[in-house]
Amino acid sequence: MPVRTRFAPSPTGFLHIGGARTALYNWLYAKKHGGEFVLRVEDTDAARSTDESQSIILDGLRWLGLEWDEGPEAGGDHGPYYQSQRGEIYERYFEKLKEKDLVYEDNGAVRFRVPDKEIVVDDQICGQVTVNLKETGSTRWDAEAKKEVEANPDIVIRRPDGSFIFHFVNVVDDIEMGITHVIRGEDHLSNTPKHIALYEAFGADLPTFAHIPLNLNKDGSKMSKRDQGALIHEYIENGFLPEAVNNYMALIGWSSGGDRELYFSLDEILADFDLSGVNASNSKFDYDKCKWMNAEHIKALPADKFKEVSSSFIEKAGIDPTDARVPASLELARERSETLADIAKIITPIFTDELAYDQPSVDKVTGKDGISTVVTALADHLEKNSEWKGDAIKASIQAAADSLGQKMGAFMLPCRVAATGSTAGADLVPMLELIGQKRVVERIRNFGTTFLS
Ligand code: GLU
Repeated sequence: MPVRTRFAPSPTGFLHIGGARTALYNWLYAKKHGGEFVLRVEDTDAARSTDESQSIILDGLRWLGLEWDEGPEAGGDHGPYYQSQRGEIYERYFEKLKEKDLVYEDNGAVRFRVPDKEIVVDDQICGQVTVNLKETGSTRWDAEAKKEVEANPDIVIRRPDGSFIFHFVNVVDDIEMGITHVIRGEDHLSNTPKHIALYEAFGADLPTFAHIPLNLNKDGSKMSKRDQGALIHEYIENGFLPEAVNNYMALIGWSSGGDRELYFSLDEILADFDLSGVNASNSKFDYDKCKWMNAEHIKALPADKFKEVSSSFIEKAGIDPTDARVPASLELARERSETLADIAKIITPIFTDELAYDQPSVDKVTGKDGISTVVTALADHLEKNSEWKGDAIKASIQAAADSLGQKMGAFMLPCRVAATGSTAGADLVPMLELIGQKRVVERIRNFGTTFLS
């Protein structure tokens, strides 16, 4: 039987890194086994589902390159792929349970009679879990009374308003869509015995279950949408590369067995991926590590691709991407950037007409004794330079230092702050070369008049 996996998001919020990782593992597993990856939108909660949320989720998956073989906008033989449009199918399955006398009404809702037997979840990642729903469901924790109270173990599958509950539609769809592998977050492991009971009631074959342990914050707390690095659209906005995010997501919770950390494409991950490498324990999310990985991916980009992916960021920063100085500027910033947004920030001083000065950087320079003379000497010697190129520029700075009997090192910082606006940034001399002689000299003189007189 061909492998069929699915990602089944509820369009009630953003695409979270945990959800995206689930999608990635499903995509990888399907591709690894020559199968199909299905996208199903679980939008039965009409009050909370929004079109905006759905677009964010679909756009995020596409940005990551996790194209679905079947699903919204792609079509397929198992549609519709929105639960809100599958009412007839659910009614048909509901009738099956009715015919078998497995459902009954309870205060307007409908309950499914759970079997009184041990149900074994044979999970590919978490191992075996054995549960008797009749027993475990016969009590529940009452938060107000702070004690276990008696409960009805039979599961509500239909609300009094006629709508069906998650457990029911999720199982019906997995059966109808021929899903062979249910790979999802471990938060659904406790639901799985209920799902198995429903599969058995429908007389359907069980899929293989694989629950991926959770991805927690560094301090062990559950990640929320407010945590840094939680939402995929923020990676897009902040200048991450999709290949780097896939690389990082693949490695939170999975390892190929060796110590390889860098995978530069989905194909590279695919070559090593299997469910057997997924850890059975929760993983910890580390945004700094993710940024480091992005920096490594930026370093490895071929020049033309680097220019292509940076262009929207540099345009946003007001830089014309067709400016002849762009390729050299990008290369200059490459080694020092963790994100494409960093690149734009680093190269802005090369192109801007109105240099913004970072006040703490300015303060570092203006507090020094004799700084006015240093700045004037720099401007004078750089103005005299007749060959505006790396070594020659350096020689002019050296000459400015010599003229005051000082070391060149003491001239670099004032020169950097006056010409680029801050103490941070790419290598100074190539920056000066790209800014251009006229502008560098103008800026250094302006720095003197603005901050030192
Ligand atoms: N809509 C469910 C969720 O977003 C899907 C659960 C599943 O993958 O079975 O959690």
